[in-house]
Amino acid sequence: MGFFVEKSLIESLLATTPSKRPVVLLRSSAMTAVRIAAKRQAPSEICGVVRAVVQNEGIEIRSLALAPNCARDTVWGFRLRRKDAEARKNTWLTEHGRLSGIFHSHTKRSAQPSRLDMVTMRRWPGIHLIAALDGPFRVFLSHDRIVEADIRVI
Ligand SMILES: [Zn+2]
Repeated sequence: MGFFVEKSLIESLLATTPSKRPVVLLRSSAMTAVRIAAKRQAPSEICGVVRAVVQNEGIEIRSLALAPNCARDTVWGFRLRRKDAEARKNTWLTEHGRLSGIFHSHTKRSAQPSRLDMVTMRRWPGIHLIAALDGPFRVFLSHDRIVEADIRVI
């Protein structure tokens, strides 16, 4: 039952047309905090877990929690510890109206997803936020496909 509700929720979030993309609400203070953490850690990428709630106006990001980057080469990639990734996955599947996901930074390029990022998005359904050091952030929703969301800073 929980899974059924969650699956239809995901489908409605991904039901989009080129003119109308899903909206993700992000506090400017959270954005600033991620940018400061990303700059502090550069040139290594930072990563962590996103928690969000579905509202009428869009998907509101409630928290961005840093987690260790366990990639072998942290300058060109990131990897969450298995326990962080799995805690995230369980939330996605079981809690109605609550979504989770992954964020990471790009320190040497824009927030354009890399080929590896696309693989990660397919593997881990949910919200994926990419934080560039300077340019705009980008957010994607993934399930059986990947859709870019518009970020509304609040
Ligand atoms: Zn990336």
